[in-house]
Amino acid sequence: MRLGWLSALAASFCLPVCADLEAGAAARRITPRLDRPVYLAGFGNNRIATGVHDDLWARCLALRTAHEPVVVCAVDLIGLFHDDVKMVRDAVPGARVIVAATHTHQGPDTMGQWGPKPGVSGLDETYNAFVVAETAAAAREAVSRLTPVRMFPAAATPPDVAAYYDDTRPPVVHDPEILSLVFRDRRGRAVATLVNWNNHPEALGSRNTLITSDYVHYLRQALEEEGFGTVVFVNGALGGMQSPLGAKIMDPETGQPAPKDSFRFAEIVGRYAARHVIESQKKAKSAAVDTVLYRETMVHVPVTNANFLMAAKAGIFGGRKPMQDGGTAAPVGYLRISRGAAPVVEAALVPGELYPELSVGGAVCDPNADFPGAAVEKPLKKMLSAPFRMLFGLANDEIGYILPKCQWDEQPPFTFGATKRWYGEVNSTGPEAAARIAGAFESLLKP
Ligand SMILES: [Zn+2]
Repeated sequence: MRLGWLSALAASFCLPVCADLEAGAAARRITPRLDRPVYLAGFGNNRIATGVHDDLWARCLALRTAHEPVVVCAVDLIGLFHDDVKMVRDAVPGARVIVAATHTHQGPDTMGQWGPKPGVSGLDETYNAFVVAETAAAAREAVSRLTPVRMFPAAATPPDVAAYYDDTRPPVVHDPEILSLVFRDRRGRAVATLVNWNNHPEALGSRNTLITSDYVHYLRQALEEEGFGTVVFVNGALGGMQSPLGAKIMDPETGQPAPKDSFRFAEIVGRYAARHVIESQKKAKSAAVDTVLYRETMVHVPVTNANFLMAAKAGIFGGRKPMQDGGTAAPVGYLRISRGAAPVVEAALVPGELYPELSVGGAVCDPNADFPGAAVEKPLKKMLSAPFRMLFGLANDEIGYILPKCQWDEQPPFTFGATKRWYGEVNSTGPEAAARIAGAFESLLKP
């Protein structure tokens, strides 16, 4: 009897605390019109869109406690430079806005590198301005829909997740977690779900010309069909290489390998991740939280990549990413959802495609690397203490691959017995990016 009274008291205490978190979500289409050439980004030059398979989206999740709302937006794009992200932020006063690109390889060139031929930009300023306006509108709409919620965090670690990657570069390291946060209103209805996994949305391959968000489309669709509210997918550590492109993935319906470069292949990848979100959420418990905190700092990243320097000079980026002191400025962020000072969810936000070694550890310093004795950067997730640890890749910027310095390898002899250069360095600012980002992130964690 007495115990019952105490639990009733605890429950009534919980009401103001648990109701402290509010969430709201909104989605806006950012599918380009095809009344002019739309250069598809991610593979070679001059891949012009011929149609639309599924819409591209700007999807935003707003979270608020006592402070100004933090809005997490994900856009179905190859990447968005910080210059564009700043314009989104300017159009959402009174909120802290995060914009992460899903990195689909089947959407328009918003960065300039995939135009009609090398050296000619594929950027369409009218389209980028449309993306900025629609993303800002989605963010404002998400804030306007804030409603009291409970948060249900879950993490799945499927034992067969490695089958969904063709990791073409040693060491073979994956961050195996598929993380999700479901926000349910007082009636138990899901307002929104945030999903964080790490895999390149390039299942359709380099010959597809239909606009699509790739496997992300099927992942979100599968969850929304099951009543998970507006699904916001944020990609994780994508480097080194986290891609389904060359993976042999079985089709559960035929028992045969799924056809390469097909929508069926993308569907299997997306539905695989969705299934693990659904399963892990069945056991999820509501986590009482009362604080959402977001911190960000700009870091100077030296640029030594001759291609990037040439592209900047040729105006490929449309004046974005201006060079300063031999480098570029990029944001590093830290998101924490906590009960008081006790974190429940933490996320490291990096401005590009991080090698998973830099997130979960496992760098291997082969003696044939260019800097084999370089200090190994502290893995970002290992700096965190929350039970649920996320990594947002291509967050608020896209500077390309971010590699451990001791794995950097442009000069022969090549690492791991290779006879030619590895892919990665060619799309990276340089060997110092990882240390700069890890150092900046560590400083953000200080109280
Ligand atoms: Zn990539």
